[in-house]
Amino acid sequence: MRILVTGGAGFIGSHLVDSLVERGDEVLVVDDLSSGEERFLNPKASFHRLDIRSPEFGTLVRTEKPAAIHHLAAQMSVSRSVREPLFDADVNVMGGLNLLLAARDVNARVIFSSTGGAIYGTDEGLPIPETAETWPVSMYGVSKLAFEHYLFAFREQFGLSHTILRYSNVYGPRQNPHGEAGVVAIFALRILAGQVCAIHGTGRDTRDYVHVADVARANVLALEREVPGIFNIGTGRETSTNTIFSLLSENLDPAARAEHGPPRAGDLAASALDCARAGQALGWEPGVQIEAGIAETAEWFRLGGGR
Ligand code: NAD
Repeated sequence: MRILVTGGAGFIGSHLVDSLVERGDEVLVVDDLSSGEERFLNPKASFHRLDIRSPEFGTLVRTEKPAAIHHLAAQMSVSRSVREPLFDADVNVMGGLNLLLAARDVNARVIFSSTGGAIYGTDEGLPIPETAETWPVSMYGVSKLAFEHYLFAFREQFGLSHTILRYSNVYGPRQNPHGEAGVVAIFALRILAGQVCAIHGTGRDTRDYVHVADVARANVLALEREVPGIFNIGTGRETSTNTIFSLLSENLDPAARAEHGPPRAGDLAASALDCARAGQALGWEPGVQIEAGIAETAEWFRLGGGR
C-alpha cells in the first residue's frame, strides 16, 4: 500500500515509517526537518523535504495519491504554543487544512496523531476516557482539537474517512526534549553531563508514559482495521516525575542528583488515559513496561543518540 507519513523524520514518525517499511508498504515521508533529523529517515522510504503548509505539499499528495496519510507533522511544543499561538495555529491548523484539502481530492484516509495529555479538561477523574470533556488549557491542545473537528467536518461534507489517536506522553529512543514526555530526554542528558536535574515542585505529579514502539503499533493497527473514531493511546498507569528520575539514574548514574524547585504554573498534578476502547476496537494494548522502556531509552542516550 502507498502510504504517506508527515513528520516521518521525527521521533514517533520515524519509528512508524520503520514499521510500515517492514510491513512491505511503499512509504513517502514529508518533513521539513524543523525538529526531525535526517539520520532517523528510513532509507527505503522516499523523502520529500517540504513544509505541510506549502502548495508543493498539496501537489505531491495529488500526484502520488497515497491510500492513507499518517499525519504526525506538527508544532508539538506546548510551551512554544503558549509563546507563539499564531505559529502554532499556522502549522497545526492551516498546515492541517492544506493536507485535508489534498487528501479529499485523492480520497486518502487520514490517521491523525492527536494528544490525550493536552486536550482534556483538568478536572477529569483518572484514567480519562475519550468521552471526557475537552477543554485544553494550552494553545497546542486547542490547535490539535481544532484539527480533530476539521476531520469530522471533512467526513460529513466530503466522506473523507479518518481515525484519531490521542497519545499520552510518548517516550523512547530518538525522543527529544520538546515533546510531552520531554522530561525523560532532559533528565537523561543532564545526568550524562554530570548536571543536577531540576524537578518542579514535589515530583509526585504523574503522567502516563507510553513507549514509542507501542504507539507506532497503534498507528499500524488503525491503518489495518480502518476503524473510525477517537482512541486514547496510553497505558492507564501513572508514573511520577520522581520515579522517572530514579529509573534514569539507576540506569545512567546512581550518584545523579535532583533538586526540587517551585512548582510550574499550569502543570497538571496527574494524568493517565483509559485505553479500553483501543483494546476493543483496534486490538491494541501497550506492551512495554516503563522499567524496561526507560532502560532502553537510557541506553540510547548513553550511546550518544541524543547528540
Ligand atoms: P517530532 O517533533 O519529533 O516530530 C514532528 C515532525 O514534524 C518533525 O520531524 C518535524 O521536523 C516535522 N514538522 C514540523 N513542522 C512541519 C511542517 N510545517 N512541515 C513538515 N514537517 C514538519 O515530534 P513527535 O514527538 O514525534 O510528535 C509527532 C506527533 O505526535 C505530533 O503531531 C505530536 O503533536 C503528536 N504527539 C506527540 C506526543 C509526545 O509525547 N511526543 C504526545 C501526543 C501527541
